[in-house]
Amino acid sequence: MVVRTRIAPSPTGDPHVGTPYMALFNLIFARHHGGKFILRIEDTDRTRSRIEYEESIFKSLQWLGIQWDEGPDIGGPYGPYRQSERTEIYKKHVQKLLDEGKAYKCFATAAELKEMREIAAKTGQRSGYDRRYRNLSPQEIEKRESEGQSYTIRLKVPLTGECEYDDLIKGRITCPWADVDDQILLKSDGFPTYHLANVVDDHLMEITHIIRGDEWISSTPKHVLLYDVFGWERPKIMHMPLLLGADGKKLSKRKNPTSVFYYKESGYLPEAFVNFLTLMGYSMSDDQEIYSLEEIIKNFSSDRIGVSGAFFDVKKLDWINQQYLINSIPENQLWNKIQEWGFSDEKMKRLMPLIHTRIKTFGEFIELCDFLFVNHIPHTHELLCPKNVSPEVSAMMLQCMIWSMDAGENWGRDGFEKASREVAEAFGVNHKKVIMRLLFATITGRHQGPPLFDSVDILGKDRTRARILNAIECLGGISNKKMATLTNQWETKDCRSWLSQD
Ligand code: GLU
Repeated sequence: MVVRTRIAPSPTGDPHVGTPYMALFNLIFARHHGGKFILRIEDTDRTRSRIEYEESIFKSLQWLGIQWDEGPDIGGPYGPYRQSERTEIYKKHVQKLLDEGKAYKCFATAAELKEMREIAAKTGQRSGYDRRYRNLSPQEIEKRESEGQSYTIRLKVPLTGECEYDDLIKGRITCPWADVDDQILLKSDGFPTYHLANVVDDHLMEITHIIRGDEWISSTPKHVLLYDVFGWERPKIMHMPLLLGADGKKLSKRKNPTSVFYYKESGYLPEAFVNFLTLMGYSMSDDQEIYSLEEIIKNFSSDRIGVSGAFFDVKKLDWINQQYLINSIPENQLWNKIQEWGFSDEKMKRLMPLIHTRIKTFGEFIELCDFLFVNHIPHTHELLCPKNVSPEVSAMMLQCMIWSMDAGENWGRDGFEKASREVAEAFGVNHKKVIMRLLFATITGRHQGPPLFDSVDILGKDRTRARILNAIECLGGISNKKMATLTNQWETKDCRSWLSQD
């Protein structure tokens, strides 16, 4: 048997560090066993998938030197490797299940589903869908179809008994079928759900080992059932510990920098980052902490994978990075490397117009725009809080900046400016005196400097986001209760109440 592993990221956001983390373990496992590692793009979510995000996935993995053997960009014998190009395959497979009575057409409307969810929430049931369309007569189905009613196709999940499978890391896992909904396989727009497409592709691409994060454990019973009803052999399954933030919760972009590019732009070395990511989920037999990818491939044994959460410990990352810096970059190459990282001609060309008329001597160049080259801005309450605005409300304003730029999917110059005006208006405060002051302090660590919007454009989305998050944290964050209120208020862009209370 040739071992075949894969990662199957969805291109719905910035490249999360979890993607190379999983990619590395899949790659290591495949290489250790002389097998193949595949990259498949799961872009069945038509509203959230974007080609730019797909390209960022490629770029982020390439930066780290993670190379796949088959994928949408390089092809391979099992293509296409992009799910949006495989819709006919999924339809054909679903039809087979319909013909065999293993799946059914469900005509539930959005209103019906909402009502079912409400009832389930009240009665404390795990499953939200009451299976009301599971046993319609063929005549009834035909009648509804001829009336043009739209439908989804659902899997008939057993009503009793338990799902059982062996996880190579966690051991035997069981789960009562009563807790599993009749899973939708095909959506009303004819697109497959993740579950169907994932299983069909893993089977057709002859994936032998599925190595993915713990977060998918609740999906696995549905997948296992799909293999069984199709009459296919189940692949081996391993659920890896998730990357956790310092608070012990899943690493989330709401709190931590999670984009791979943030680490690239902050000046980490790709080899060090790869070493760090593998160390989070694995321990070498001699507890060695610094090792090359080749070494871990050679040494690999799945029983050395951690069972519980893997802390994304930035201090550890810094230490590892320093070891690589000292040992793999000779002094005479250091400046070249630093230059490549942060002082490229291209960057300087964008920066010079911003400082040309603002410096009296060359000596003031770095003084004026040090914030574009440093990782840590010394945030304090005094620096950040505008006059008469409390730390918590300042944090709220910054949080709304993030929401505004995320919603507009624009963290560039114009997106930042638009967000700043939107936040000033929503809070009913002076744009220049309050919001710009807060933003200058957050991004530059000072109250004036080169034009902020252009500077943010040069600083880039990921470092800008990280600075805003850091400032929010420095300000003491926002309590859960207030966050809920703020979320609602932001929908109507009216957050005035906080300042009148202040
Ligand atoms: N598309 C899923 C993701 O975004 C794939 C999960 C899996 O590996 O099965 O991560």
